[in-house]
Amino acid sequence: MAAPYDVCIRGAGIVGRTLALLLARDRLRVGLVDTPPAPASGTGDVRAYALNSASRELLLALRAWPDESHATPVTGMEVHGDDGGSVHFSAEAQHVPALAWIVDVEPLLARLAEAVRFQPQVTLLDSPAPASLTVVCEGRASATRAEFGVPFHVVAYPQRAIAARLACELPHGGVARQWFQDGNVLGLLPLGGPQGNSVALVWSVLEPRADELMALPAGEFESRLLAACGNALGRMKLTSERMAWSLQRAQAERWCGPGWVLAGDAAHNVHPLAGQGLNLGLADARELGRVLHEREYWRAPGDEKLLRRYERARKMDVLAMAWTTDGLQQLFAQPAEPWAWLRNWGMRGFDRSGPVKRWVARQAMGRERPPSGMERR
Ligand SMILES: Cc1cc2nc3c(=O)[nH]c(=O)nc-3n(C[C@H](O)[C@H](O)[C@H](O)COP(=O)(O)OP(=O)(O)OC[C@H]3O[C@@H](n4cnc5c(N)ncnc54)[C@H](O)[C@@H]3O)c2cc1C
Repeated sequence: MAAPYDVCIRGAGIVGRTLALLLARDRLRVGLVDTPPAPASGTGDVRAYALNSASRELLLALRAWPDESHATPVTGMEVHGDDGGSVHFSAEAQHVPALAWIVDVEPLLARLAEAVRFQPQVTLLDSPAPASLTVVCEGRASATRAEFGVPFHVVAYPQRAIAARLACELPHGGVARQWFQDGNVLGLLPLGGPQGNSVALVWSVLEPRADELMALPAGEFESRLLAACGNALGRMKLTSERMAWSLQRAQAERWCGPGWVLAGDAAHNVHPLAGQGLNLGLADARELGRVLHEREYWRAPGDEKLLRRYERARKMDVLAMAWTTDGLQQLFAQPAEPWAWLRNWGMRGFDRSGPVKRWVARQAMGRERPPSGMERR
């Protein structure tokens, strides 16, 4: 008897749901394995993701892009070094409406869940089902990846990322701000629309200090934050609980085998300092969708030759991003004076370097690769 599904996707996070919708548009029968929701925990995920224009176009095409109040355009970006160096980007200089969008995680997941519910080609499952192709989208601790015997090479960073929401005295003006200081990376991402005055905090902090910051009473945490960002947005007040994530760079040794493939965080993890982890996962979904769409008519979706095309297309992209974020993390983690001078001198030079700076900005925006496949459908 033929398997009931062409594709079984294990893991209904953002990457899994997006891929399910993408493949369903190609008339593939998709089973999407969702785990039961975790017991209600406070405010849900307090993070907001910086998504690039390639990710936005993909989610818009799938009718899963959140409304304006949950997707704030970033029209400027400021990156500050630890010795006066800084780099500034602006959407205007790049001739684009926004450099990125800051998207609330929970509303994005809800939009995707709604789109999945209205897609008859997708069936929600509570356990895996036989299919020509199994796609593993279970995130970084994937059990199926281990079950398939795939080594996952992990390098742990000595930092944890603290995330929270804050209301600020001054409007953010659509600017995303980042500070590199003493091995820590502090990011304040604009929320609530262009004129908003709330931000999402991502503070990657060296381990012993992360414990201390998590344990501080709210008022003291706010004071530490104010000092770290030089009062950039006036007084700030926590509006959510604080949550923390351990950080790692990781890469699966193999991304595919006969009848299975990895995507998203199950295949690779990068440091969040450049806000690219999910953008990479969504690019995986887009590429896998393209490869399956363009397959020869005699090939089944689980044909390993096909899946190798996907692995080849994505691996270099992911490696390049992993090296870039890792390099930045390492560069700013060096306490010695020559390094401090070098990185801040480099930042000043980079800020004045027209074409190089434009190229880097376009890479981060995901504009170097048009969203192949989307326009054909
Ligand atoms: C602090 C922080 C900030 C970040 N900021 C950004 C940012 O600004 N921009 C950006 O692009 N990225 C960012 N990232 C990265 C981003 O969080 C991840 O890349 C993204 O969540 C990966 O999505 P995913 O769907 O692959 O995995 P996950 O989000 O981990 O989803 C996996 C899903 O699979 C389910 N699952 C697990 N095991 C099973 C199983 N056995 N069976 C069925 N289901 C299973 C899980 O419950 C979950 O729903 C950030 C990360 C951190 C830690």
